[in-house]
Amino acid sequence: MDLKAEVLEKIEARGVSRRDFIKYATVVTSVLGLAPSMVPKVAEAMAVKQRPTVIWLHFAECTGCSEAFIRTTYPWIDQIVLDVLNVAYHETIMAPSGHNAEKSLHDAMKKYDGKYILVCEGGIPTKNNGVYGKVGGKTMLSIAKEATKHALATICVGNCACFGGVQAAAPNPTKAMSVSKATGVKTVNIAGCPPNAVNMVATVVHFLLLGKLPALDDNGRPLFAYGYSIHEKCPRRSHYENSEFVKKFGDAGAIKGYCLAEMGCKGPNTYNNCPIVKFNDGTNWPIGAGAPCIGCSEPNFWDTQSPFYEPI
Ligand code: SF4
Ligand code: SF4
Repeated sequence: MDLKAEVLEKIEARGVSRRDFIKYATVVTSVLGLAPSMVPKVAEAMAVKQRPTVIWLHFAECTGCSEAFIRTTYPWIDQIVLDVLNVAYHETIMAPSGHNAEKSLHDAMKKYDGKYILVCEGGIPTKNNGVYGKVGGKTMLSIAKEATKHALATICVGNCACFGGVQAAAPNPTKAMSVSKATGVKTVNIAGCPPNAVNMVATVVHFLLLGKLPALDDNGRPLFAYGYSIHEKCPRRSHYENSEFVKKFGDAGAIKGYCLAEMGCKGPNTYNNCPIVKFNDGTNWPIGAGAPCIGCSEPNFWDTQSPFYEPI
């Protein structure tokens, strides 16, 4: 594969091997649905394009999406942070805390006004003017409104920011909702609980490569990742068609890898690229490990897809 000398120089200077870098660029290219001939262009976008500045805010959530993002084994966090993104503010990984953290956010928003990509993790409590969710004395609602207003684009990571998440499940005492509903700003939704880190990186690479955010479905999710259902791409699909079902966890059907529909699988109702991309460097994914899909990338899945272990 021909990589420009400039690209090779950049990646080698960062201690990344050519082989590892091409491997990851190939994964991102395929996630974006681009032809293999585009791998050098994707590699170039990741290595030498000007990195977008990212401000990453946490609202009502468990930080599981950040954990999924920073624990990804490839690329390692330093590669994501240093090679693809310029993260100006991220509460989990930055050094300042307390008043200094508040100052960092203020400074970053001022310095990159209108130019930063805002990444939001978590839902927004809105009851009683947002009083049930505060950071540094300010409501999450007011922080989200301010930060989205000055952003170039807003990307929501995880079901909570995209659709409200577990805190928005019935009876939703704090009237938690998605960032988009709470602020009135259109967002790109990288849905999942947690989402796959590669879908986040691919969204940013799409922006670097083509200068625009990817096409979205009706729920704001990038079509390249959420354009087909789990059921459509599931390797157990032939068993579904042959009515070969697991009846009990650990039974003979489970050992043979039969379909999990009778164990509550929500794959037919769920749009995500898990069967193709998988997790942990493509090692495995929930259905591959024998667990039914719980529909974690769908709006309000805690209410609409539960009970999780009962058939649709
Ligand atoms: S395991 Fe789930 S997604 Fe796979 S074929 Fe069965 S119902 Fe469909
Ligand atoms: S298989 Fe279903 S529940 Fe599991 S991560 Fe994918 S979309 Fe979420």
